[in-house]
Amino acid sequence: MRVTTCFLAAASVFAAGTLTAHARPFNDPRSDRIEAIDADAKFAAEPRDGACYAPVLASTGGALPKNPGTLAVRWTGYANYELVYNGQIVLLDAYFDRGGIYPPLGFTAADVKKADAILIGHGHHDHMADAATVGARTRATVVGAPVTTEKLATQAIDPKQVRTVTGKGGEILQFGKFKVEPILGRHGQPPASVVGPIDEVLKKVTTPPTPEQVAEQARIRQRGTQDRRVIEEGTIAYLITLDNGFRIMYRDSGGRVTEFEKTAMQRAGRVDLGLIAVSAAYLNSATVEQALEHVHTYKPDVYMPAHHDAPFNNLWRATEPLFQAVKDDNPRIVTVSKGYREPTCFNTEHNISRGR
Ligand SMILES: [Zn+2]
Repeated sequence: MRVTTCFLAAASVFAAGTLTAHARPFNDPRSDRIEAIDADAKFAAEPRDGACYAPVLASTGGALPKNPGTLAVRWTGYANYELVYNGQIVLLDAYFDRGGIYPPLGFTAADVKKADAILIGHGHHDHMADAATVGARTRATVVGAPVTTEKLATQAIDPKQVRTVTGKGGEILQFGKFKVEPILGRHGQPPASVVGPIDEVLKKVTTPPTPEQVAEQARIRQRGTQDRRVIEEGTIAYLITLDNGFRIMYRDSGGRVTEFEKTAMQRAGRVDLGLIAVSAAYLNSATVEQALEHVHTYKPDVYMPAHHDAPFNNLWRATEPLFQAVKDDNPRIVTVSKGYREPTCFNTEHNISRGR
C-alpha cells in the first residue's frame, strides 16, 4: 500500500466562514487526499498544498502551509520535530548532524535557516547538539532547563537568545501564535539489568564502528551535557497551545510522569496531539507500560512517537506494540508514525478546546 505523506486531523469544509457540522474528526492518514487542505475552496486553484506533501522542512526552505489553520508536523529523527503553523516555525530538539553511524536525515544542521523558536527537552547531545549553531543562524529563541542553557552558555550563541526555564510553573512563553508552557518532566532510566545484557549482545552481532566513527561520535557528544541533573531537573515537557486552542504535548524522553505533569494536565485536560518519546527499555512490555502512563496523563487524540530510531549498530524502538496497546486501551486514539521529513498536516480549527 502506498504510504502517503499526509494526514488529516479534521475534514474541514468552510461554508460562509463557518465550519460545517458533522465534519469527520480524522481521515485515514494513508489516504491520498487531504480534504481539509485540498478541498478548501479558498485554495482550489492550487489543489495540493506542497507543505503537506513534500518531504522538505520549512526550516530548510520548504513551503509553509497556505491555510493559516493548517499545522504541518515533521519528525526528523530521535525526538526532533518541526512544527509549522501560521507562518511560524518551531523546532523541538535540535540533533541533526548525528554522524556516519546513523541513517541520514536528508538535510544537515547547516541547511536549517529559518526558525522562530527551538525548544530543547533536555541537554543530552542527542537532543541539543545543534541547538547553538541553528539558533545562531536563525536567530531563534532557544529554550531549555538550567543544565541545558549552562551548556549553551559555553557555545557560540548570543546569550540574549537563550531562555532558561525550570518547568515548575509560571513560565508561560509566547512565540507569536504559539503559547508554550514548560513543565518539569523526568528523564527515562531504563533498567540496567535489561539494557546491559542486550547492549553486550548487540556489540557481538553488529559491525563495530570504525575508529573514525568513534572519534566523530565523541566530538558530537561534546555538544551536549552529561550532567546528572538532566534526570530530575533537566528534562522539560512542553505544553504548546496554538492561538485557536489546539494543544500539543511534547516530551523528548521516555521517563516516568512527574507530579508537575499531572498537575498541568489536570488543568489542561487533554491534548490534540502528543509527541512522546518511546522508552529506551528495549522490551516491549516495559515500553508499553511507559507509553500507557504517558497517554493516560496527556490524553492525546493523536499519538506520534519520538526517539524510536537508532544508529546502525543498535535497534529501533518498536512502535507497533505501543500503537496496539494504546488502541486496546482507547480505540479512538489515532496513531501516526512517518518517515524522516514526511509531513503530517492537521486542520487545527477542529480541536478539543472547541469541543470536538
Ligand atoms: Zn537523554
